[in-house]
Amino acid sequence: MSATIKPFTDEFEEYGRDESRASGEASSISFPTTEDEVRAILETLHAERVPVTVQGARTGLAAGAVPHGGHILNTSRMNRYLGLRRDEQGQFLLRVEPGVVLSELRKQLSKKVLPTAGWDQASLEAYEEFQESPEQFFPTDPTEASACLGGMAACNASGARSYAYGPMRPHITGLHVALADGDLLELQRGEAFAQGRHLSLVTAEGRTLELDLPGYTMPETKNASGYFVADDMDAIDLFIGACGTLGVITELEIALRRRLRSFGV
Ligand SMILES: Cc1cc2nc3c(=O)[nH]c(=O)nc-3n(C[C@H](O)[C@H](O)[C@H](O)COP(=O)(O)OP(=O)(O)OC[C@H]3O[C@@H](n4cnc5c(N)ncnc54)[C@H](O)[C@@H]3O)c2cc1C
Repeated sequence: MSATIKPFTDEFEEYGRDESRASGEASSISFPTTEDEVRAILETLHAERVPVTVQGARTGLAAGAVPHGGHILNTSRMNRYLGLRRDEQGQFLLRVEPGVVLSELRKQLSKKVLPTAGWDQASLEAYEEFQESPEQFFPTDPTEASACLGGMAACNASGARSYAYGPMRPHITGLHVALADGDLLELQRGEAFAQGRHLSLVTAEGRTLELDLPGYTMPETKNASGYFVADDMDAIDLFIGACGTLGVITELEIALRRRLRSFGV
């Protein structure tokens, strides 16, 4: 067993359950801190055909983070802020690792102080503009603010504010997804689309994945069942709400919004 893959001993007992109160068993666990570590872990486990359960903060109520044997890959220690930019409309887009906790993000945004260690020059320039701009906030509120952004993206979290802002999906502009074999997809909203129900995606290692999407029609009411699919859909939307079944979210880019005090948010 590698240093990052540890046996699932009693000290990790709490990671066998989430807020659903369901509990399960695993044979090993890891707490990667970088995307490269996630990829290496997945590559090792894939070679051994070990099933993987992905975890964020384990606040989910549907037992998606509860293992059924195999390995637990817990992303809660991947909590760096990676950079900032503005889109053509001037909206701030923040790049974070999946383990960033919602309550922490809210604090940082309200203080207008983000951890900028390791940021490139372009991000630092956007950060100066961010500090001079009206206060920004992130709209999605799944009630439980100890949730991680990766977990929120993975289950397309919603909550009371969804009546005004929709669920998590429209606020995600970029995703990195580490696939089961350790290869990586780098997805940017607006860049890769399905042709009808067929999706062709090129991985970081240069492989082309040809995916036939399910043919069902999504209901127009709120629906959290099954993969999100639509004709000619943006590829990124397939991975939002997939609950960790298609890969591990290792990076997200989220769109911030100007705070509107009169909305009470
Ligand atoms: C009191 C309470 C109230 C709640 N109210 C709401 C509500 O109103 N609306 C709502 O939507 N939710 C609600 N929730 C549920 C919960 O807060 C959300 O589901 C939360 O967004 C999950 O985030 P997490 O980090 O805890 O993820 P986890 O619970 O750890 O995981 C959730 C799912 O995402 C997957 N996952 C986690 N991280 C990753 C990753 N990096 N890559 C790929 N897959 C991953 C897991 O495998 C699992 O399937 C509530 C929870 C509580 C405790």
